[in-house]
Amino acid sequence: MTLTSPETADRGELLPPADPREHLSSPVTRAALRIQQRLLAGAREYLTGAGFAEMMPPIIGPVTDPGIRGSKQVDLDFYGHKYKLMTSAILYKQASLLAFDKIFCIAPNVRLEPLETANTSRHLAEFHQIDVEMAGASRDQITQVVEELVRHMIGRAVAECAEDFELLGRDTGVFETLLKEAFGRRTHADAVAELRAGGHPQNPDAEIDWQGEVIVSEAADRPFFLTDYPKGSRGFYDRESAERPGVLRNFDLIAPEGYGELCSGSEREFDYGRIVTRMRETGENPAKYGWYLAMVREGIPGSAGFGIGVERLTRYVTGLDAAWQANAFPKLPGRVSP
Ligand code: AMP
Ligand code: MG
Repeated sequence: MTLTSPETADRGELLPPADPREHLSSPVTRAALRIQQRLLAGAREYLTGAGFAEMMPPIIGPVTDPGIRGSKQVDLDFYGHKYKLMTSAILYKQASLLAFDKIFCIAPNVRLEPLETANTSRHLAEFHQIDVEMAGASRDQITQVVEELVRHMIGRAVAECAEDFELLGRDTGVFETLLKEAFGRRTHADAVAELRAGGHPQNPDAEIDWQGEVIVSEAADRPFFLTDYPKGSRGFYDRESAERPGVLRNFDLIAPEGYGELCSGSEREFDYGRIVTRMRETGENPAKYGWYLAMVREGIPGSAGFGIGVERLTRYVTGLDAAWQANAFPKLPGRVSP
């Protein structure tokens, strides 16, 4: 269902209403947020039941995730020190494993995405992630957690929100396969080969670009894992395969129907020397990472984890046109808003 404010209708763009009252009191927003609330309740229920401790992550710190591709970090003044707003919880997730073996958090992230992404339907400058990290886990074990978690969340929303799905015109029959059968799995190299064979100029050394992602996503009948991204395409914390140098032990979860990426995750790099090398390879200055590297040098557990974009998952589940429709106070790149 399309929700277009009068201000933007003539430009043919799907943008949030300038008035928060209009957005929050819209039946579409309310139905989407009710479904999202069930998804979040389902996430907490599954993760807590599986022994994950919920942590409250910081929203500011001296460093944050640099692996955010085209977007910019937000600096702030912390008593004369340059701090950043969190772009992701990754550094703190690894640190949290010093307290608990299995953790999760649900928190906002701020990334100043390029202006041209304001109309992609999937980029917000502020969004939320369900972030999970598990000590000692392999990629197979953590993708199993992703699969069970997503199935539990969607199962709960489908069971409890029939009226809201109806209002949004979303046929929940599309989730039948997802709720019953294992998610699919294919490698990055395999997806690149297929895209290139089909005439799409996918760069084999980069993440699958958005158009390519739509193509592989549209061809699927349930979510699937894309694995083994090339080293240059991701942050220093995704662990490189010992057997296959240059290939990372990571994955994305891609939704069907063209909705694209829902989640990114990986086995993590935890060895001090390898992390410093990877930082240098990715153009990061290790000197900036004082507390993190001091902690890693003393030793942190090996782990695997992931982050699910809450607005993107809600968009897929609700069948909405844009991720901002799944956010109560949407912040789009370049747009001043509440
Ligand atoms: P990343 O670490 O960049 O893979 O982000 C983790 C997840 O957060 C992605 O799989 C998306 O679901 C979501 N995400 C990332 N960037 C944005 C954004 N700008 N707006 C909305 N969701 C995002
Ligand atoms: Mg990603």
